[in-house]
Amino acid sequence: MASSRKAFRITGTIVEPGESATVELQLPPLYTHTELAMPVHVLHGRKPGPRLFISSALHGDELNGIEIVRRLVRLKALKRLRGTLLAVPMVNVYGVIAGERNLPDGRDANRVFPGSERGSLASRLAELFMSEIVRGSDYGIDLHTGARHRKNLPQVRACLDDPATLELARVFGAPVILHSALRDGSLREAVRELDIPMLVYEAGEALRFDEVGIRVGVRGITAVMRHIGMLPATKKKTKKTLTPAIARSSSWIRAPASGIVRSRVKLGDRVDAGDELAVIADPFGENEVSVRPNFSGIVIGRSLLPLIHEGEAIIHLARFEQEETAEETVEAFREAYE
Ligand SMILES: [Zn+2]
Repeated sequence: MASSRKAFRITGTIVEPGESATVELQLPPLYTHTELAMPVHVLHGRKPGPRLFISSALHGDELNGIEIVRRLVRLKALKRLRGTLLAVPMVNVYGVIAGERNLPDGRDANRVFPGSERGSLASRLAELFMSEIVRGSDYGIDLHTGARHRKNLPQVRACLDDPATLELARVFGAPVILHSALRDGSLREAVRELDIPMLVYEAGEALRFDEVGIRVGVRGITAVMRHIGMLPATKKKTKKTLTPAIARSSSWIRAPASGIVRSRVKLGDRVDAGDELAVIADPFGENEVSVRPNFSGIVIGRSLLPLIHEGEAIIHLARFEQEETAEETVEAFREAYE
């Protein structure tokens, strides 16, 4: 039976309905005369549907998303894909090569969007990503981790003032959704300008794989794909289907003194105002100082490095309107995944 569905075209490559391809977007070469490209998996479903992009390693040392994309594109369910999936495991290829967050010009790729063809190296990369991947897409999911030595509880960050985005954030099913305002020059801001709903998923830490964070990520993306009609719906709810807790704000608790840190809390713990979250002391254990928050919340991120200077961030606490419900959600999440 002849299909009337059109082939998908990207930089001169034609992908027919029901087929997939790995396409390379050419980047400025390395100064060693080595060619460089951003690889993109294109899966063009047999039947029409939305176009979703998945981006990962926009920060070159944040690796969980690379593994999430690898597992995602191998799923058997994608044989029944509707619409088009563009999965980009490494946006900042330069950073991945160097094991660095930023580009070789020192710029943070997530602060230069929408970019420009005549701009900095980072800005050119952003412009290429916008023109080839983002424009024409209906939805996006951008995959991140915590920074180096900082680990995040799996969480979705999105602008919850937009109902369509909030809906997707709920469907994704990470234990926590954190409302976050748009940041100048971020991919999320540039995508929002085009009225394309986009989620940021954060889990684990830089330069490490986090198995739970990876599994939650793969499940979250497939749940979103079912919800927007790219994959057939499943009837059964598993114990891993969560209703996420929504936090409207969060703050980092900062070190009141410099020294060696002993943490008293784990990711996902609920803490009250005045609780001792950590103790900082000098190397001989003298002059101990307690770290206590002045509000209650749930630990959604923490520094793993036991060395700290005064003013540095130690623990990321999210505020919830219904704290008990949030605590139950995080508990249920731990049970389901551990
Ligand atoms: Zn990041």
